[in-house]
Amino acid sequence: MYRCMAACILLFLVISICTLISTILNWLRQPKEKEMESIPVVQQDPVIIEEERSAVAAPDILEDFLELNDYSRPGTELTKIKNIFVHYTANPNTSARQNRSYFAGLAETHERSASAHFIIGYDGEIIQCIPLDEQAYAVMTRNEDSISIECCYKDKDGSFTQETYDSLVHMLSWLIDKYDLSPKDILRHYDCGGKLCPIYYVENEDAWDKLLYDVASYQELASY
Ligand SMILES: [Zn+2]
Repeated sequence: MYRCMAACILLFLVISICTLISTILNWLRQPKEKEMESIPVVQQDPVIIEEERSAVAAPDILEDFLELNDYSRPGTELTKIKNIFVHYTANPNTSARQNRSYFAGLAETHERSASAHFIIGYDGEIIQCIPLDEQAYAVMTRNEDSISIECCYKDKDGSFTQETYDSLVHMLSWLIDKYDLSPKDILRHYDCGGKLCPIYYVENEDAWDKLLYDVASYQELASY
């Protein structure tokens, strides 16, 4: 009889303790649930694709636009950009500054019509001569839908210094990213009209392929 009563009391105690523990646990859990409820739902802003797309940062560019003139900066609007053309100055050991002065001087000399949006010096510096919404005089039949980059050089073979090359790769990556183009949209002046420009990359197809490959790699790395 006593054993039975002791067992009943023990059972009662166990049930009571379990109920108490359960109540305490529930009590402890409640504030957390309330906290969860009180966290406001974050409203996600719509993704603006235009801003998200540009992964490559712009290179350092010195803006030094030419004065409007009929021989190097006609002021004609550039409304679409289908290709980026690469050129060389055909004048070894002349700096970006000197080549910009040459373009500017055409306003007076009327020697010929010539210009480019950018000139990359052999130290890698970049001078912008023409705004990107205006046409340059660089590729006879394609001024109306392209951007042109003129490159300085030192070697007789027309190859670029490492500094020029690095700035060119960066600049091309930035431009094709900016205008939603691809490396195959980068052309040599030679590819439109057959002018031997830029000479080193006309005579060395492998080097040109390597340049386009480097641009693609640069762009890919920038997107990580
Ligand atoms: Zn050219």
